[in-house]
Amino acid sequence: MKKVKTIKVDIDKCNGCRACEMICSAFHATPKYSSNNPEKSKIRVLFDPIKDIYVPVYAGGYTEAECNGWDIYTIDGKEYDECAFCRASCPSRDLFTDPDSGLPLQCDMCLDDPPQDEPLCVKWCHADALTYEEREEEGEEAKKKPDEMEVGLQSLVKNHGAKKVMESLAKLKQEKD
Ligand code: SF4
Ligand code: SF4
Repeated sequence: MKKVKTIKVDIDKCNGCRACEMICSAFHATPKYSSNNPEKSKIRVLFDPIKDIYVPVYAGGYTEAECNGWDIYTIDGKEYDECAFCRASCPSRDLFTDPDSGLPLQCDMCLDDPPQDEPLCVKWCHADALTYEEREEEGEEAKKKPDEMEVGLQSLVKNHGAKKVMESLAKLKQEKD
């Protein structure tokens, strides 16, 4: 059996307050809670008050290629484009890409130091639009997911090549020493 951690999203309850974006970016700021910037949050809220659309989406994995799906979905009379529900950090949009480093952002379920017993976005959502869930599923224990640094390094290597990344790291180390 493997343990799967998820956040269930109820878009009917979301009111677009964006408290989830604020706490997520503050918790992951360096130093912790020193700043908050929605563009650095690992959960983003697509909102369009005129159309009464509020869609919280937490960041999934990084993907190298954009998809070719541009479908429109109509749910309860509201139109959403396909990207509205997508959790990927992908090359076709800025969402889930750190605006300073250009590295992909990925939700870590707030297991960053110190690990939280429940994701902070869930705790801070007073509209109860977010619910943390853990479930057991048949299958082998999931392979360890790459952590944020590994994902970032993979992205740098893809964009600049391993040699250039190694040279830059060596230069940084020299400057630090
Ligand atoms: S905190 Fe809850 S209600 Fe507010 S924007 Fe986030 S998901 Fe929506
Ligand atoms: S679980 Fe934590 S890291 Fe993931 S989106 Fe929510 S606040 Fe951000």
